[in-house]
Amino acid sequence: MNAQPTIALIVPVFNEENNIAPFVAEVERVLSDYLSQMVIVFVDDGSFDNTAQKIIELQQDKPLINLLQLSRNFGKEAAVSAALDTVEAAAYVIIDVDLQHPLSTVAESIHIWQTEKINNIYGIRNEKHLSSIWFYRLFNKLSGRVKIPVNVSDFRLIDRKIVQILRTLPERNRFMKGLFAWSGLTSRGVPYVQAERKTGNTKFNYPKLWNFALDGIMGFSTLPLRVWSYFGGFVALLSFVYMLWIVAKTLIFDIDVPGYASLMSVILFLGGIQLVSIGILGEYLGRVSEEVKRRPVYVIDEIMGDIALNQQQNGCGVVIPQRSDNA
Ligand code: UDP
Ligand code: MG
Repeated sequence: MNAQPTIALIVPVFNEENNIAPFVAEVERVLSDYLSQMVIVFVDDGSFDNTAQKIIELQQDKPLINLLQLSRNFGKEAAVSAALDTVEAAAYVIIDVDLQHPLSTVAESIHIWQTEKINNIYGIRNEKHLSSIWFYRLFNKLSGRVKIPVNVSDFRLIDRKIVQILRTLPERNRFMKGLFAWSGLTSRGVPYVQAERKTGNTKFNYPKLWNFALDGIMGFSTLPLRVWSYFGGFVALLSFVYMLWIVAKTLIFDIDVPGYASLMSVILFLGGIQLVSIGILGEYLGRVSEEVKRRPVYVIDEIMGDIALNQQQNGCGVVIPQRSDNA
């Protein structure tokens, strides 16, 4: 068993067979000072290429490598949750395998964690993605007290304390960036230059990102639900004033035939607004039904490697318990 305190690199992988070996080589090169107290935890998120085999091959002569095998593809956030729930360490570094997050920034974060005891150290991307900036601005407007820094990336180091808090959270919608911020512990950003993806393609397309954004906002704000009563009140007030005006016009002047066009546009406009608001109700209802089902967020099929495990299993997933050390 690894001596504490350990730094666990949590690496979710989905069809990344060509990125495993370069990633491990880069870890050994850049983080050589920390290797003695480090473990790499790959979470195979249901890959259907040779990702798992590549990891197991490397594991033969590199005992710092461990593998959590999920039973199918559950998505990146679930894969990260699986590792945070299962593995015991003093600090956890969550990082992509495609080397877009430079390992020198990991070294910098470990240094900050060791010297300044910051609980939550996150990467800040240099390049500006307009859509993501607007998303985090909107999120921060709607989310009340929970604030996420704009331009924050997926890469971060969190300590044991944050992980213990996360393990107590019962929700099924794991919008991790929001949950880290929710914990309220000390945090600090480290800027870095995002590299190009090593090989393979991004696993996130626009529909996936859209759903990610919806999960984030609906998980942390109910404003989209409440805004319709104010809008309705405002429209009712306007209609009342308009009604007074029509009554006055009819009494004072002669009866006049109101325009078909204006009537039509008001009906269509209000019909559209009503459909949107019902749609938003549906979005929340869907999420409520996900939560009440209490279905696990992930299923860990197998754990390979010599690694300290959380015995409590108080997380939000299922761990099929037998453990195969292939040492
Ligand atoms: N990933 C995963 N499960 C998924 C999709 C992605 O574990 O369903 C992993 C992927 O292998 C990579 C990381 O999440 O290590 C980031 O994915 P990607 O590079 O495709 O995202 P991008 O950098 O384009 O945002
Ligand atoms: Mg990437």
